[in-house]
Amino acid sequence: MKRILSIIFLIGLYWLKKIKELNKALNERQAELIYLNDKVIESERLYKSILDASPNAIVMLDMKYNIILASNAAIDVLGYSTDSLIGENILQFFAEDEHLEIEKNIDRVFQEENIGTTNYRGRKNDNSTIFEVNSRAIKDENGNSINLVSIIRDVTQKATLEEALEAREKQYKELAKELELKNISLSERVSIDNLTGIKNRYYFDERIKEEVDLAKRQKASFSLLLFDLDHFKLVNDNFGHDVGDKVLKRVTDAVSKIIRSYDIFARWGGEEFVVLMPNTTEAEAVPAAEKIRKTVEDISHPDIEKITISIGIAIWELDDDVDQIFVKADKALYTAKNQGRNRVIVYKKS
Ligand code: GH3
Ligand code: MG
Ligand code: MG
Repeated sequence: MKRILSIIFLIGLYWLKKIKELNKALNERQAELIYLNDKVIESERLYKSILDASPNAIVMLDMKYNIILASNAAIDVLGYSTDSLIGENILQFFAEDEHLEIEKNIDRVFQEENIGTTNYRGRKNDNSTIFEVNSRAIKDENGNSINLVSIIRDVTQKATLEEALEAREKQYKELAKELELKNISLSERVSIDNLTGIKNRYYFDERIKEEVDLAKRQKASFSLLLFDLDHFKLVNDNFGHDVGDKVLKRVTDAVSKIIRSYDIFARWGGEEFVVLMPNTTEAEAVPAAEKIRKTVEDISHPDIEKITISIGIAIWELDDDVDQIFVKADKALYTAKNQGRNRVIVYKKS
């Protein structure tokens, strides 16, 4: 009996120990669960505060586009009049003609396609709102997309501003273009002679300076032709100033047609004209001048029998400045007049 009692005692002792152990394990498990629960609550609180701190609408959708979670700002951003968005279909907050596109894009996101940022017109304020949307799929433990989280920003103001800026930029560009055209015509106007339409003295003064600089640098040469209408005073005296003007126009038109495109032809003043022939030697300048002289002589005028010109040529020589080459051309022209007019004379040192 004593033996049986001690066996029972031992078994009791064993179970007591076992129960104690089980109890301890249970307590530990319970503590773990409480800890985990606290963690879940804490992390839920954390993400909820992150959601609510955002000024944007952050919503989580199920596969049917229904809202299952929404940030505080979502109601305002989406423009909804009730307290909760939970259960609402997201499509209703967008303009109807955008729905098809949105559905297509949501499905693409569910399929894990990166579609980047998209813009849609929102329903808010009579479809005048513009929403910028970024979305991402949320997967379950098997890797299947089950939800979708979207950040929706109201960018109406930004878009309107951008539009206004774009319009302003376009306006400026047009204005700049207009100004450029005006500038061109202005600079053309200041360089053109009113009566004849050829270049004026102002323009020529600038160009000959450039040509002298170039000739000096490149040790090249150029020819300057100075021509003057013969006895032109008589035309005015006998037929009137208007006829004289027409003669001047006819002469310049004819000469313009036969000179080379890179020759610079200008009205020097009154009935005197200049032709600058870049990179042209005496051997080339003389026949060119002859051609001009002949062309003018051959013009048929309705009122006058014929008009002739005398031409003085100066070939630029090293160290000549603008004045010097003009003096030379003028001297040659003077000689041409003295020798009976209607001729070409090249300046020669006496
Ligand atoms: P020369 O053969 O020596 O050059 O004789 P010319 O009569 O041509 O020379 P002059 O210098 O005595 O006269 C030039 C004339 O050119 C006088 C002037 O009235 C005329 N003239 C100058 N500019 C114009 C113009 O724009 N229109 C008209 N119609 N005549 C002009
Ligand atoms: Mg003259
Ligand atoms: Mg004259």
